[in-house]
Amino acid sequence: MSGKVDHIVIAGGGTAGWLAACTIAARSKRDVAHPLRVTIVEAPDIPTIGVGEGTWPTMRGTLAAIGIDEAEFFVATDASFKQGSRFDGWRNGGDDDSFLHPFTAPVGDTPRAAVSAWSAKGGTFADAVSPQGSVCAADLAPRQKAMPGYAGALNYGYHLDAGKLVDLLKRHATQKLGVTHVPARIDRVERADNGDIAALLLDGGDRLSGDLFIDCTGMRALLIRGEMGAGRIDRSDVLFNDRALAAQVPTAPDSAIASLTIGTAHDAGWIWDIALPIRRGIGCVYSSRFSSDDEALATLCAYVARAVPGAPAPDPRLLRFESGHLDRFWIGNCLAIGLSAGFVEPLEASAIVMIELSLRALMDGFPTNRAEMDIHARRFDRLFRYRWDRIVDFLKLHYVLSDRNGAYWDEHRATVPESLAELLALWQGQVPGNADFPMMDEIFPAASWQYVLYGMGGKAPQLPAMNTDPTEQVEQRARQLAAALPTNRTYLDTLRAKSAQATKPAGCPA
Ligand SMILES: Cc1cc2nc3c(=O)[nH]c(=O)nc-3n(C[C@H](O)[C@H](O)[C@H](O)COP(=O)(O)OP(=O)(O)OC[C@H]3O[C@@H](n4cnc5c(N)ncnc54)[C@H](O)[C@@H]3O)c2cc1C
Repeated sequence: MSGKVDHIVIAGGGTAGWLAACTIAARSKRDVAHPLRVTIVEAPDIPTIGVGEGTWPTMRGTLAAIGIDEAEFFVATDASFKQGSRFDGWRNGGDDDSFLHPFTAPVGDTPRAAVSAWSAKGGTFADAVSPQGSVCAADLAPRQKAMPGYAGALNYGYHLDAGKLVDLLKRHATQKLGVTHVPARIDRVERADNGDIAALLLDGGDRLSGDLFIDCTGMRALLIRGEMGAGRIDRSDVLFNDRALAAQVPTAPDSAIASLTIGTAHDAGWIWDIALPIRRGIGCVYSSRFSSDDEALATLCAYVARAVPGAPAPDPRLLRFESGHLDRFWIGNCLAIGLSAGFVEPLEASAIVMIELSLRALMDGFPTNRAEMDIHARRFDRLFRYRWDRIVDFLKLHYVLSDRNGAYWDEHRATVPESLAELLALWQGQVPGNADFPMMDEIFPAASWQYVLYGMGGKAPQLPAMNTDPTEQVEQRARQLAAALPTNRTYLDTLRAKSAQATKPAGCPA
């Protein structure tokens, strides 16, 4: 193997594998000084996980950088807008128990200004500091039709069909970006004298050599754990949900399309509800220590009957997972991205954004030769250990302030990580701010912590009144947006009709 890093081999063709292939190949096309060859190998008989329907706003930048047109993306993946999440029943399970975590940061010059204004005004934190709640309540899109692709009046990500996203990325990678696709199962791995991966040995007998191997084989973690010996850090003591029942529920063609992921708490977990133009993705997440599969199914069926009246009884798929992540993400010339690197429950949709951030970290300091790789690996490991710790704390924040009764919720309150307990102690006297989350690209910035902390009933510290009152600005902006924005249904139906028209074959010649 030469010291140069020219050929990138990606093992696995799920969302992680194809996002990696597109991102690296698109960057290589632009970066003529250091062109890269990208090959992806995927076992045709091992399915992808097939879920993963909510993204973060980062996905807009990722798709734009890859060179995919936003309108094409919406139509190809049955996508809709995601403007944040709504959490129902998390505080006490009462009828009016609901709070928002919108994607747009609170108005006001500083976090203190927003919190001070909310304390003076009352009501919910999100409604006091952001117009996004009123836009979502009316099922409005976050952008107008005339805006350029990926621009928005408010911050947004997407809800989408996971299988269709993989198909789109695959088409784009192979047809537009020159990625080589090898449909084959990896049987064995050939190692070099220095411990690196020299080549993948495929079931048809082929040998696939490369300079950098990216393990995107999902929960199998075939290369990084099976071959390179990475260890696993278990996080199930803190986040003990370990199963999901995932269903697809058809909806009427004229039904309203919500632009929030709705997360509804239950006795042993929570339910996700994601609206696409033609169906809803609804799933029950639970802990097998506190609920049987049958009990979870009953919870899911009752939710579907309530939320989508007249829908057929769901026929869900059972998915098992373990909360945890690797102790090292990059070993020698092998880097793990996606489920192979780790997974904790899908609350707040942190998995695909971790794929995007992993790729950003790889591309920002791309190793030009093997000698540099160990330095990059150490830096990458430090960064992603930090990111996983922040994710675990942030997800746990949704549970620890709850007043819900029951063994499951008691267990959550009894297992607060020290790092989170420290933050909660600090925030009795101050507002979550950038000093608590110092990185430029935190997955969950201080605003996200404020929305969840105060949404869950966390008390704001006593603050002096500020000179400016951002809540007036919120009300004015909410009125402007209500007058200017189309509904999600109108926006997406128009886009889909236009695309259908454009791809309709011409009629027979007269
Ligand atoms: C219940 C649930 C809900 C989720 N919801 C969300 C969400 O809303 N938002 C979010 O961001 N994330 C979510 N996720 C996570 C998300 O689904 C994944 O992060 C994402 O799909 C990436 O998966 P992957 O590509 O790493 O793995 P997979 O999709 O499992 O792909 C693995 C690939 O490896 C290949 N492979 C395996 N073994 C071999 C072999 N021997 N040879 C060759 N190829 C092989 C397979 O063929 C497949 O192509 C959710 C996960 C779960 C479990």
